[in-house]
Amino acid sequence: SDARDYVRSLVRTVPDWPEPGVQFRDITPVLKSARGLRTLVDIFVDRYFDARLDYVAGLDARGFLIGPIVAYELNVGFVPIRKAGKLPWKTVHESYDLEYGSATVEIHADACDAGDRIVLIDDLIATGGTMLAGKALLERLGAKVIEAAALIDLPDLGGAQRLRASGLPVFTICEFE
Ligand code: 5GP
Repeated sequence: SDARDYVRSLVRTVPDWPEPGVQFRDITPVLKSARGLRTLVDIFVDRYFDARLDYVAGLDARGFLIGPIVAYELNVGFVPIRKAGKLPWKTVHESYDLEYGSATVEIHADACDAGDRIVLIDDLIATGGTMLAGKALLERLGAKVIEAAALIDLPDLGGAQRLRASGLPVFTICEFE
């Protein structure tokens, strides 16, 4: 659609960052543009307007730039899922494998309740490992994760496919090779 194409056109590709051979997809120009930001948020708000959500959950760190705006517009609260060691209260954590090593994400144990309907938001899906870890945390608190939503999918890395195979629907605005 025109809206999706417009958002995609604002994504900046930075070669060899953070290391040689990586093409980093930078969303800051989307956020910088008043029309870009509004278009991005409106796409998600339209998508979940009738979804009867209880919360929007966002993944550290760029999910925090998009998720709360969508939550505000949908008149629901926002739940942060953070990298390990940042949350002050009682947490539940989940570790997952990276290309080299592993990462851990955490959520407050009282971040949501059993039966809550939640959409999980991040900026980009690569391998899907981050979204899967977020889903696992929310499900351990008894929530129902309705969908994983991201601005960008990298289909060559198979993340969206992996998420769908786990039973989690996926919605993304655009794709990059
Ligand atoms: P995954 O867990 O799906 O392999 O990686 C997705 C996570 O890595 C997301 O939290 C995302 O913010 C980050 N990420 C990986 N590559 C990129 C990229 O090229 N651009 C952006 N904006 N984020 C990336």
